[in-house]
Amino acid sequence: MRKIIFCFFALFSLFFAYGEISFYCPDKIIPGDPFKIVVYQAESGEDISGGLYTLAGKRLTEAASFPLRLNRNIEVDIILLGVPCFLSSDEYLLRIFWKENNSSCCIERKIKLSKRSFVSEDIKLDRANTVILTKPDPRKAEERREFNKILGVFDVKAVFCDECFVFPVKNFVETSFYGDRRVFLYDDGKSSRSIHYGLDMASDTGTPVRAPADGRVVYAKERIVTGNSVIIEHLPGVFSIYFHMDSLKVKKGDMVSRGRLIGTVGSTGLSTGSHLHWQINISGVPVEPKTLLKAPLIDKSRIMSRISSLSSGELTDWFCNAVDEVLHTSDDTKN
Ligand SMILES: [Zn+2]
Repeated sequence: MRKIIFCFFALFSLFFAYGEISFYCPDKIIPGDPFKIVVYQAESGEDISGGLYTLAGKRLTEAASFPLRLNRNIEVDIILLGVPCFLSSDEYLLRIFWKENNSSCCIERKIKLSKRSFVSEDIKLDRANTVILTKPDPRKAEERREFNKILGVFDVKAVFCDECFVFPVKNFVETSFYGDRRVFLYDDGKSSRSIHYGLDMASDTGTPVRAPADGRVVYAKERIVTGNSVIIEHLPGVFSIYFHMDSLKVKKGDMVSRGRLIGTVGSTGLSTGSHLHWQINISGVPVEPKTLLKAPLIDKSRIMSRISSLSSGELTDWFCNAVDEVLHTSDDTKN
């Protein structure tokens, strides 16, 4: 069997092995946090994917891997995932899939989800905002379809950034947080519930909004609910999203570097005041934007040092036969 090493990087990590397959995984994950799996293959070429599942086998999120060259001789495969913020504190399964001798293989491990509390807030909507949110409109449905299609793209070549993100706005006040449990109170006395998947940064209308990291603009348009909106692709499956801007300063297809002006703060669409809604999606899962300010999603030097440790045997003592079995399966495991 070809030797494949799986490395799950997080703040608290454990290293596990089964036969010739080894992987490095967090001992717990946190709602809203991104995490990654680094796969090192002696011979590259396997299609590898990974995901988070309930103990009953329901898929919560899954992503394909993409190649990342660390230096002239070493290439690894990266799987980036986000932990949905609505999951309750419990045990889940991490699964990795690959092909071997024309059969599908799966390895899985239980993982604990830490508890995280989120803020609850009531938001009163006036007549205009109530209409924006509740009035059926085929254009809204079409805009949602188009948006979801763009955020569902996975381009293995879209490796544009390996640095920390910075805030897209300077001098702002956080008025809503990632994961807030919201109740919208309509002007007719009715209400609805939702989760806030971004960060609301209140600032004066016209304040510059700048790219937080290098990337490619894949959307720049006005929408009914989110006003002037931009999406930047930074890594395969990783997008940053900007809503309610007063003006747009980029167009679809533009390559942007960190700090490039992409728009200005405003109050377009469903908005109760001048602010920027900033959101990060990883393979369809919105994650806490602030985690990307602290550490890069892909840190080549850190990955290199992990692999050096593995190959020099420093982590041998960490090995344990913690995985019950490698499952040789058909694709129906991915339900
Ligand atoms: Zn918002």
